[in-house]
Amino acid sequence: MPVKPPLPRSRKKKKESSLSGALPPLPGVITLRAIGQEFDVIYSPGVSPRTTFSESGNGLTLSGSISRQGCAAVLKRWTSGKARSHFPAWLEQSSRELNLPYARVSLRKQRTRWASCSPGHTISINEKLLFVPALLVEYVFVHELCHTVELNHSRRFWALVAAFEPNYKALDRELRTAWRYVPWWMCKPGSGELNQSYYRKISVPSA
Ligand SMILES: [Zn+2]
Repeated sequence: MPVKPPLPRSRKKKKESSLSGALPPLPGVITLRAIGQEFDVIYSPGVSPRTTFSESGNGLTLSGSISRQGCAAVLKRWTSGKARSHFPAWLEQSSRELNLPYARVSLRKQRTRWASCSPGHTISINEKLLFVPALLVEYVFVHELCHTVELNHSRRFWALVAAFEPNYKALDRELRTAWRYVPWWMCKPGSGELNQSYYRKISVPSA
């Protein structure tokens, strides 16, 4: 079952027209709060029509064609790699600590869910969680692992969550506004998600 935030629809609609058109600027710094890493992004334009990336220390260099959309696609690919190298092991560790086994893990870029658990106990993790503070990610994992026992949001489910994370109500509330941490370039162009994400980014003060 998903951890699903409500979309601020009425406010979104008002802003959307003024935000249509140009994409926001490319990032100079990328903060992966979930894993406590920050990268300076260096853009190195070249003759190649392709965009490539290379990471060294806390620097990330994008070379070749430096178009907004090309760079956004490359940054997304780089982020997917980060998610793959951190989230499955992290979930596995939480699963062992809680003694709540799951069947499989998959990484995705969901638009409105932080994660979900299927009836077959596959846990799908949103790669966008990389931008969210670690405490909230840990809660998402606890929440989804509890769904391997209770595939619903019944009182029994919340009692199980509370047994592992007594502060779950505050964490759940924080997750609903945590979309503001997700940068525009992680969102799918043309889906409307971009404007939502950008709107959230500029309307809610970042921590
Ligand atoms: Zn749930």
